[in-house]
Amino acid sequence: MKTTRRNFILTAASGSLGALATTAQAAKPSGKQSGVIVIPERKVPVLAEADVVVCGGGTAGISAACCAARHGAKVVLLERWPSLGGMATNALVNIWHTSDRKKQVIRGFVQEAVDRGGRFVRRMAHFPTKPETHEFDSTGMRVVFDRMTKDAGVRVFCGLTAVESIVEDGRLRAVLVDTKTGRKAVCGKIFVDATGDGDVAANAGLLFDFGRVSDGGVQGMTMMFRLRDIAPAVIKAHPEDAKRVFALMKKLRDEGRFPQFLEAAALSYLSSPRDPVVSYNMCPVAGNPLHEEELTRLTAQAREQVYRYVDLWREQMPGFEEAEVEQLGFSLGIRESRRIRGLKTLDARMVVKAVKQPDAIGHGFWMIDIHDPKGTGHTTWVDQKREMMPPVGESYHIPLGICLNAKLPNLAVVGRCASTTHEGLASVRLQSHCMVMGQGVGTCAALALNAGADMAKFDVRRLQAQLRKDGVYLEDVP
Ligand SMILES: Cc1cc2nc3c(=O)[nH]c(=O)nc-3n(C[C@H](O)[C@H](O)[C@H](O)COP(=O)(O)OP(=O)(O)OC[C@H]3O[C@@H](n4cnc5c(N)ncnc54)[C@H](O)[C@@H]3O)c2cc1C
Repeated sequence: MKTTRRNFILTAASGSLGALATTAQAAKPSGKQSGVIVIPERKVPVLAEADVVVCGGGTAGISAACCAARHGAKVVLLERWPSLGGMATNALVNIWHTSDRKKQVIRGFVQEAVDRGGRFVRRMAHFPTKPETHEFDSTGMRVVFDRMTKDAGVRVFCGLTAVESIVEDGRLRAVLVDTKTGRKAVCGKIFVDATGDGDVAANAGLLFDFGRVSDGGVQGMTMMFRLRDIAPAVIKAHPEDAKRVFALMKKLRDEGRFPQFLEAAALSYLSSPRDPVVSYNMCPVAGNPLHEEELTRLTAQAREQVYRYVDLWREQMPGFEEAEVEQLGFSLGIRESRRIRGLKTLDARMVVKAVKQPDAIGHGFWMIDIHDPKGTGHTTWVDQKREMMPPVGESYHIPLGICLNAKLPNLAVVGRCASTTHEGLASVRLQSHCMVMGQGVGTCAALALNAGADMAKFDVRRLQAQLRKDGVYLEDVP
């Protein structure tokens, strides 16, 4: 591809590629809107050009970038945080699920990540009879993701944020990124939005849904944390104390004197740690992850909650006397925000009925796992006693159509911002499922470019054949 440098002109006058109208909302300290700032025309230097530009370096984006590069595309990966991995590394969400409770149905890039992970990944003993399959060390996986992208030939930029999408003649031409040295442009032929929040697609004007139908609430967020210096043998010798402390936590919480916590997990965390260092997924908060001030407040609140749990346990629970917080998530764990409307929408029926799709790019099987948007720590679908997941030994297809859209043929979305209902997302948001999307879309982008076709027009049978060759589990395609 040609690498001549171009300049983009930002102007308040028109909406074309070379001249973009843009306004910025400013807020008074009180939070009231105080109008707009008109940005004067200015030149924006081009930072990079590529065949495929992947925005967002979480598990979905890493997978998309590596797979596109391996099929010959020149790939740029843009990430706002200092390290790759998204929720997997920076929010300490350290588990991958690959089994339909009888056999492994997610392989391909996910299996590669497991294999490359080496000593940082621990396969669970009950595999494959339970879906929980692999735990990993989030710190070590940062290095593994660096190595994987480097070996695939992906050009990675961390520390910049995609803030605007430049659309011209029905195609996305560039994303503008904010860097330490000002705003710059990254141009490409195909773009993959893997930001989790669908920033690029929303900025490009694609329609999206947000939250559940009843009240617009998105799934609760969670601050993951790790404790060290726990004494598992002492804890196991005091099962009655675990029950007593659990009851005390519930009582104090119900009296408003203790924060919310994930009940389903708390008792087992208190009673049966396997190791002296344990990861905890039990600290819920509720709110809008796209609202900066709210997110800042909730993140601080969650950090505070973690220390409230730990202080109580140190005081009350034998075996926790020396426990100390080893790590807190760098970010709150975010489960849901924008869901970009696509050619297809994955819903609860498709999940629990294990529906097969002609444009399948891989399999999914996880349950409809909805963390209460009110932040109580309950999982709401279970509360309603509905069918939760495909039958044992069955899985559903993840269709390419949930990643493509009707408006911009050179933009795809992967990961938790794909086209789903609130309920469908509660299954397909899993990292292993997000990586399946990444592999399908990254491969599709490279093959479509080689063929001179748009992704939606590319022969899906050829794509499926390539994915199988690359180790993807893909069965029962109608
Ligand atoms: C507490 C918690 C527990 C979970 N438990 C599990 C579990 O047990 N197993 C499991 O598999 N999944 C679990 N999940 C779900 C899973 O972690 C996420 O759904 C998954 O990581 C989403 O991957 P992603 O790549 O789509 O998005 P993310 O991991 O969110 O990655 C998005 C990346 O894009 C970057 N980014 C965002 N905006 C921009 C921008 N404008 N410009 C540049 N970069 C940007 C972000 O910094 C981030 O690195 C859990 C989630 C949470 C929060």
